[in-house]
Amino acid sequence: MNESSTSSTGAGRGATLGEDFGRAFITLTHETLTAAADALGDLDRRAGDGDFGTNVRTAMKGTATNIENDAPSSYREWLTAMYMGWLGVGGTSGPLFGMFFRDLAKAGSDQGPDSGVPGSDATGAPTLEQFAQALADGQATVQKYGEAKVGDKTMVDALDPAVAALKDADASDAVAALAAAEEAAIAGARDTAESTAKRGRASYVGDAAKGVIDPGAATMALVIGAARAAAAGESSVEADWIG
Ligand code: ADP
Ligand code: MG
Repeated sequence: MNESSTSSTGAGRGATLGEDFGRAFITLTHETLTAAADALGDLDRRAGDGDFGTNVRTAMKGTATNIENDAPSSYREWLTAMYMGWLGVGGTSGPLFGMFFRDLAKAGSDQGPDSGVPGSDATGAPTLEQFAQALADGQATVQKYGEAKVGDKTMVDALDPAVAALKDADASDAVAALAAAEEAAIAGARDTAESTAKRGRASYVGDAAKGVIDPGAATMALVIGAARAAAAGESSVEADWIG
C-alpha cells in the first residue's frame, strides 16, 4: 500500500500533486518558456529554420490571454488555457504541443469546482499516477501524429525517458518521481545534440545541426521541470543548461 499524506479527490492510489498543481504548473511553464524563448529560437536558427522562438512566444502570449479571459480555477481549466495557446500557433510544434497539453488536461478528477457535483470545491488536480499516465498518453499522441521515433532529434527524445522514469519511480513520492523524470528529460534533450534530425524542418539541414540541442526536446524538458517545481512548491525552473 502506498502512504499518502494528503487525500485525493481523484481515483487512484499514490501521491497527490497538491490542489494548487494546475495553477503552479501552468504559471511556471509560462514563465519559463517565455524567458527561454530567445535561447530556444537560437537553437532553431542553428538546427532548423529559426521560427521556433516566435512560435513559443506566440503560444505563451495566447496562453496569457486565455488565462486573463477565462480566469481558470480547476486543473483542467489551467491546462486548457495552455493547450489552446499552443493550438493557435503554426509550425510543427504548435499542434504537437497543443495535443500533448490537451492529453495532460484530461488527467485528474472531473469532479472539480465546475462539475456541478455538490461539495466539489477541489481543483481536480491529478494524482502522480494519473499525471504519469497522461504524459504517456501525450507521448503516444505526439508520436501518432508526428510519426517521430526515439532518436529522430525531436521533443520525443526528452519525453520518452521522462515517461520511462515515472514508470520506474516510487508512486508515493511525487517530487522525487518528477525529479527523476526531469533529470531523464534533460539528459535526453542534451543527447539530441549528437543526433541528426529526421523530422520537421530541422531535417533539411541534416548534419549541420550536429552539436545543437533540439529546441523542442529542450522545451519538453523545461515543461517536465515546471511540473516538478510545481509539485515541490518552488517558484522557478533551472534553464541555464540550454545555453
Ligand atoms: P518546424 O520544424 O516545422 O519548423 P517548429 O520550429 O515549430 O517546427 O518546431 C520545431 C520542433 O518541433 C523541433 O525542435 C522538434 O522537437 C519538434 N518536431 C518537429 N517535427 C516533429 C515531429 N514530426 N514529431 C515530433 N516533434 C517534432
Ligand atoms: Mg522551426
